[in-house]
Amino acid sequence: MLTKTKIYLSSPHMGGSEQDFVKEAFDTNWIAPLGPNVNGFEADIQSYLGQNKHVAALSSGTAAIHMALKLMGVSTGDDVLCQSFTFSASANPITYLGANPIFIDSEEDTWNISPELLEIAIRERIAKHQKPKAIVAVHLYGMPYKAQEIKAISKKYDIPVVEDSAEALGSTYHNIPCGTLSNIGILSFNGNKIITTSGGGALIAPDKVTKDKAIFLATQARDDAPHYEHSSVGYNYRMSNILAGIGRGQMKVLDAHVALRRQNYAYYKTHLSKYEMITFLEEPEGFFSNRWLTCVLTDSYETREAIRLALLEEDIESRPLWKPMHMQPVFKNETHYTNGVSEDLFNRGLCLPSGSNLKESDLKRITNIISNTLNSND
Ligand SMILES: *Cc1c(COP(=O)(O)O)cnc(C)c1O
Repeated sequence: MLTKTKIYLSSPHMGGSEQDFVKEAFDTNWIAPLGPNVNGFEADIQSYLGQNKHVAALSSGTAAIHMALKLMGVSTGDDVLCQSFTFSASANPITYLGANPIFIDSEEDTWNISPELLEIAIRERIAKHQKPKAIVAVHLYGMPYKAQEIKAISKKYDIPVVEDSAEALGSTYHNIPCGTLSNIGILSFNGNKIITTSGGGALIAPDKVTKDKAIFLATQARDDAPHYEHSSVGYNYRMSNILAGIGRGQMKVLDAHVALRRQNYAYYKTHLSKYEMITFLEEPEGFFSNRWLTCVLTDSYETREAIRLALLEEDIESRPLWKPMHMQPVFKNETHYTNGVSEDLFNRGLCLPSGSNLKESDLKRITNIISNTLNSND
């Protein structure tokens, strides 16, 4: 009898060597936070990214964004510009610091922050003598944002960029790795990301001084003294040596995971692009996406829901695209600059199962259900 197993949107995928690093931590009693795996994991990420960056392994991507904004001097009453079309973790740390998010809508080529709207917002805020303190831009679903345009705006108005690469490890922009395209980048190793430590993140710093400052803040801001001495408020945000061991194993399979996720995208495109009701987000020239999640845009909310519910019926997880932050109840009173793009994406878009551990038979099952739904919709 054919038993149908549940298919998840994006589930952890171990490479095999993770347990060796974790075992080594046990064998050497490096169970406390810090230890050789943390240093090793940071070194692995640094050599993967290059660009002379310095990496600090932290407890989550959210913590990394919090620390990045803190290092940029964001504090109470400041304004921070933030891509609206994203996961809430891009914006929440702005409020941890008592600052106000100002949400910026997306452009159609990449679904990421619109350079035009960003500049309009900056000009308007400066005219009101409220120059924003930082910009949070996101490579959503692994697709790079328009880094050159955003960098130019950042330079022109002297506002630093936090580059949220939580979903984009392995993506590149004109051959430069995502995470290294701005002042400070961040990564996430949450369970659903392209590689995972079960929970974790990293801050990508431009120099060693910034990395050391991030680690200082993330380890309770202890001054140099034999006793516990503190002259600033600290956080408990460092990654543990056990989890970093999982990360070291995962780094060995990162490129393989990127290739597998891109294969998923290619499979879906081959089997579904014949339907007029479905379109795919193409890579603009010079953009390379890790295709963390394969997302499709349907012709209507109704088609999107028909597909989502048909998949759900067969125990297959899919999900509407991120609901923009300017539409979220928690942020309803925040200032926003919108153009309708992200709202439309939210209404018509769907993320399909995209794990690097999907089998061809899974993909076949998924695309068959979608085909049947679309054929019966004619
Ligand atoms: C996952 C994610 C984060 C947060 O990372 P965590 O490690 O889960 O805290 C931030 N931004 C985006 C776009 C994400 O997808």
